[in-house]
Amino acid sequence: MTSYNLKIMEIEKELEDTDHYLDFKTEQVKIEKILKLRDQKNVLILGHNYMKPLIYHLSDKDSRGDSLALSMYAAKSTSPIILFDGVRFMAETAKILNPDKKVLIADLNAGCSLADPFRKQDVLEYKEKFPGAPVVTYINSYAEVKAESDYCCTSANALKVVNHASKDFNSNKVIFLPDSLMGKNLENELGNLESKIELIYPGKYDNKFGRCEVHEKISAEEIRRIRRQFDLKKGSSDSAVLVHLECPPEVLAEADYYGSTSGMAKYLLEHPNLKKVYLGTECEMTSNLQNEFPQIDFVRACQVFCQHMRKITLDKILFSLENEVYEINVEENIRRKAKTSIDRMLSIGR
Ligand code: SF4
Repeated sequence: MTSYNLKIMEIEKELEDTDHYLDFKTEQVKIEKILKLRDQKNVLILGHNYMKPLIYHLSDKDSRGDSLALSMYAAKSTSPIILFDGVRFMAETAKILNPDKKVLIADLNAGCSLADPFRKQDVLEYKEKFPGAPVVTYINSYAEVKAESDYCCTSANALKVVNHASKDFNSNKVIFLPDSLMGKNLENELGNLESKIELIYPGKYDNKFGRCEVHEKISAEEIRRIRRQFDLKKGSSDSAVLVHLECPPEVLAEADYYGSTSGMAKYLLEHPNLKKVYLGTECEMTSNLQNEFPQIDFVRACQVFCQHMRKITLDKILFSLENEVYEINVEENIRRKAKTSIDRMLSIGR
């Protein structure tokens, strides 16, 4: 962990050529208080890619990223307290993997349109309807849902986990929860691979629907308009449109690459010739990646923000750290079962 003084200088340097520098100067006193508390209490601050830049930059460079990478990183840390700057299911995942640590979140009501409606009962209903079919659950879900599932997965490894689940359970049917659009996208990928697996997901045989309210708003027409307006030709070697796997299938068809947030960052690293990029995901990801890829001109045409992520503010972070409140707890029986589904995924690979 970089010390408080060095960290302030680091944030200032990272933000100095960005639109967020003035905000940093305005909020500097608050940021300093947070970082002093971080050092005094030996707190590991984890920052999800979708946090506002001032919050994202509170975390050290190796403590930023997607929810699973952050939770796994926390397991290697010796800090007794973790502050998770993200939404509640992410902090729960950190607790599942770090049961002996105190896990805090600045707002316990920071939910998720995908995770919130799906509960244990929903998993049990699918299991009853499709006996023998393994349940693969996206990491964007609560502990009680992971606990009733056979495997957890991320958007980076969903297809791999579905294939393993089918083989391990010797079942052509695999239940995928809770994201309907991701389920449809995976079904399309399985079709392209001429797989015999039948994916069952919310909305296929019932009227349930699991959705990320941010990614479902991105449309194919918008991607086409952005391509025309900013001269982003499909297949070009120096420009690209990258979208998240939670987007509708017709959006994926318009993109040069689709995948997870970590997959998008990896794509940029692996394509050093890219000069102009549009990211079809939560808008803050673009702001946060800008200083990691200064050679790229990121197209600022994004209009989708996650209202749940926005519940995390500097004031709430300060209050949570000062008082060590808003702790995440997961009942031990549920935690163990949820961890089994995560461990199975980890043994398959990210
Ligand atoms: S971006 Fe979508 S999936 Fe992520 S927390 Fe917000 S609503 Fe949930």
